[in-house]
Amino acid sequence: MTDLIIIDEMLLRRVIAHCESELPREACGFLGGVREPDGTVVRAMQWLPVRNRAQDPSHHFLMDGLDTVQCLMRLEPSLELVGLVHSHPRTAAVPSEEDLATEWHTLPSHWIVSLAVPGHPDVRAFAYMNKDGTIMYRPLRILSGAG
Ligand SMILES: [Zn+2]
Repeated sequence: MTDLIIIDEMLLRRVIAHCESELPREACGFLGGVREPDGTVVRAMQWLPVRNRAQDPSHHFLMDGLDTVQCLMRLEPSLELVGLVHSHPRTAAVPSEEDLATEWHTLPSHWIVSLAVPGHPDVRAFAYMNKDGTIMYRPLRILSGAG
């Protein structure tokens, strides 16, 4: 199981900048990267933003299908999808019921960028897991540093 996720500080800044640029809409996208063979550590290395196609994009996100396919084509050959990112423009970085109902819950990490406090983005990452038909989440430790 994934417990720790590593992301380059510059990459994390780009993710946050994208989310801020989409306000007041929710932003979404994927992270490409690598994971240890035992699945304990994931390293995010590529940011792949996707347009939000939700009818009410200020309160929901729905990943654009064409963008998603193009992301997979732009994913560097040595990498795999290791994370899904979306923003919460007005609420805390905690998965909602709707978030937990995602079809992407097998991805090793789900990132939420809360922009509820202007100028102080709060980024948290979670692993989702299916326990007897109920999707639960647990926090992941984010390690972010330069280089
Ligand atoms: Zn959410």
